[in-house]
Amino acid sequence: MTDSSTQKIILPVLLKPMWHFCPVCQANAPPRAYHCDKCNCCLLKRDHHCTFAGCCIGLKNFRYFLVFLFYLSLGCFYATVFNMYFIWDCLGGFSLFSVIAHIVPFVFWLSGYLCFQVFIYTMLSMLALVGFLFVGNLFVFHVQNMLRNQTTFEKNTGLCIYDLGWKQNIVECLGENYIRVFVCPLCVSPLPSDGISFVAHLNAPPPTLQPLKVARNNLRQRHS
Ligand SMILES: [Zn+2]
Ligand SMILES: [Zn+2]
Repeated sequence: MTDSSTQKIILPVLLKPMWHFCPVCQANAPPRAYHCDKCNCCLLKRDHHCTFAGCCIGLKNFRYFLVFLFYLSLGCFYATVFNMYFIWDCLGGFSLFSVIAHIVPFVFWLSGYLCFQVFIYTMLSMLALVGFLFVGNLFVFHVQNMLRNQTTFEKNTGLCIYDLGWKQNIVECLGENYIRVFVCPLCVSPLPSDGISFVAHLNAPPPTLQPLKVARNNLRQRHS
């Protein structure tokens, strides 16, 4: 259900426009599919390889990944807010001292200002805060990409030819029942694309040529 690899798909022998040949798989790969060294296969609409999930995020499991980030950041935020009440009490109320002690508890423990027990509490509270900032940032990054219908690879290379408007972009990433997906990603939500063909604005200049253009302009400037 969540397998986005191209291994179970019968791929054409002839290279179609916008397709590319993967030398590792020895097969033609459709647009937006890229090879992952860790998964050792090409994945449809590959976004990135997630170390925490231990697999590639692609066409069919992007919704699970996004909802995972959403609930994880919500949980970290909840933990951070409720930890704060307890931590301020432990640190003697809200003050500049307690704020700095919360940011660098290790230094305050070494200096003898905090006992070991409060140090552990503060460290755990910091862990929730850092977790919230990290996961929340990741969630916002992927929501921004989803609203432009871009994968991380396309974002990094400046490729934005699959933008169909923010609402349709959400449908392309999360399926037709995108609101239900946020409540439970297991609900049925068919994707419009099969992962092989995509609606693209081919009038947009291919970004891979942009560095070449810049290099060519630099050469021209140098010779003129
Ligand atoms: Zn491959
Ligand atoms: Zn991978």
